[in-house]
Amino acid sequence: MKVENEMIVTVHYRGTLSENGDEFDSSHGREPLTFMVGKGQMIPGFEQELMGAELGEKRTFELEPERAYGQPDPGAIQKVPASEFPPEVEVGMVLAAEMENGMQLPFKVVEIGEDEITIDFNHMLAGKTLTFEVEIIELREASESEKDHGHVHKSENESDGENNELKSDKNCDDDGCC
Ligand code: ZN
Repeated sequence: MKVENEMIVTVHYRGTLSENGDEFDSSHGREPLTFMVGKGQMIPGFEQELMGAELGEKRTFELEPERAYGQPDPGAIQKVPASEFPPEVEVGMVLAAEMENGMQLPFKVVEIGEDEITIDFNHMLAGKTLTFEVEIIELREASESEKDHGHVHKSENESDGENNELKSDKNCDDDGCC
């Protein structure tokens, strides 16, 4: 059995910045990450590089920004009146804006002027080349309902790794689809 589209893959991984080796994310010491291949739940290069891998296989690969979090978008950098921030705001702080739908959108404070503060909504890994070390620890065919829904259905005693940095989709348990 090998990794291919619509298979359910569970991995342990470690992600570092290629430029300096700093670790930005790791599943070691917590639950491994489970996802369905080919559903856009992962950054594109992560899946591409695992195609054809077998159970137990370890792969190390590098992803340029185009196959990871993309290039920074200049339009995601905005100026906001300083009066909207608490006085203790500092350059480099990561805060979150609440959207109309209740989602939290994180941003970074990049410049503090007298009247205006410049904030950046780009993903913190935008523009970065990333190195991943990945080990395939489980591999199985998706069930029919998983194929229908396009995502993993966890069993009762399994964690869905919901807080995982690399995962953009929530498990369907949260939106009641199944
Ligand atoms: Zn579902």
